[in-house]
Amino acid sequence: MASAAPRFDLPTIEPETQPFWDALKEGKLLLGKCNGCGRVHYYPRPMCPHCWSEDVTLVAAAGRGTLYTWSTVFVNDLPPFNAKLPYIAAQVDLEEGVRITTIIVDVPPEKLSIGMAVDIGFEPISDDVTIPVFRPAGS
Ligand SMILES: [Zn+2]
Repeated sequence: MASAAPRFDLPTIEPETQPFWDALKEGKLLLGKCNGCGRVHYYPRPMCPHCWSEDVTLVAAAGRGTLYTWSTVFVNDLPPFNAKLPYIAAQVDLEEGVRITTIIVDVPPEKLSIGMAVDIGFEPISDDVTIPVFRPAGS
């Protein structure tokens, strides 16, 4: 009997994080916005990491940012990453003022540069999980 390969890319979805994952499936990346201090945070938390206010609402990111840094990953033994090598792990600064760890798709690494404009995309990786990815703006 064949068994499915284990996967190391799927989150445990809790009731508190279900809206976040549901929104991604609908093509929206949710950020936490604090009504106490006005600052935005990512990932969304029930308590603001800046001022500890519990008056936090979810807002959809516009999906535009700039590339802060990246690294081409050539070695990762864990499935399903091992089938996607090489891939580009990156950090992107969203225009809302938060930094997100993500992957860059649809562009070779030699075309990347610090500060370049990137746009969000949404990539389903299972029936329940869609992840945000980024590609050069306008591509
Ligand atoms: Zn706050």
